[in-house]
Amino acid sequence: MATEKKIVKTIKINADLCNGCRACEMICSAFHAEPKYSSNNPARSRVQVLRHPLEDIYIPVYAGESAGAECAGRGVYVIDGKEYEECAFCRSPCPSREDFKEPDSGLPLKCDMCEGEEEPLCVKWCITDALVLEVREEEVEVVEEQEMLDIGLASLIEKHGKQKVMDAVARMSASTKSLK
Ligand code: SF4
Ligand code: SF4
Repeated sequence: MATEKKIVKTIKINADLCNGCRACEMICSAFHAEPKYSSNNPARSRVQVLRHPLEDIYIPVYAGESAGAECAGRGVYVIDGKEYEECAFCRSPCPSREDFKEPDSGLPLKCDMCEGEEEPLCVKWCITDALVLEVREEEVEVVEEQEMLDIGLASLIEKHGKQKVMDAVARMSASTKSLK
């Protein structure tokens, strides 16, 4: 299998340094406004700060991939005597909640690391350095096109049986020929 180099960007979150100012939410929503910087609305931010001042809880959480369905069960964490709400650290826009969704359309939001910018803006605007960008290179395995085809065919055969897959291919090739 071939390999290629991939750039991995990580935002290291030091929650002990976060003071809950929410500047990260403001700049993220302004950067992603249409047109850029025309408005701001923390509800549209791709980073959201879990904020419970009475319990001294300030934890930034970043929007990740959208989940098509909710998990079969939910998790509740207790850390150092502090209990966090269900799914508190989950990064997914999920059918079970409103987090990380456009307030008007309900469309999922996802952090894109401020594509096109040299440094993510939430990192730039965080004056306490609770957010720090780390960039590294990783060697990753690349699946060749033929391999992908083989894997796809093998999974179809496993699911439907060899004969059905062969019949479907024969039908498709006959209909392609009749179009010529
Ligand atoms: S800008 Fe920094 S200190 Fe302020 S809420 Fe965001 S992470 Fe916390
Ligand atoms: S990296 Fe950019 S897109 Fe992601 S949360 Fe920070 S400001 Fe928003």
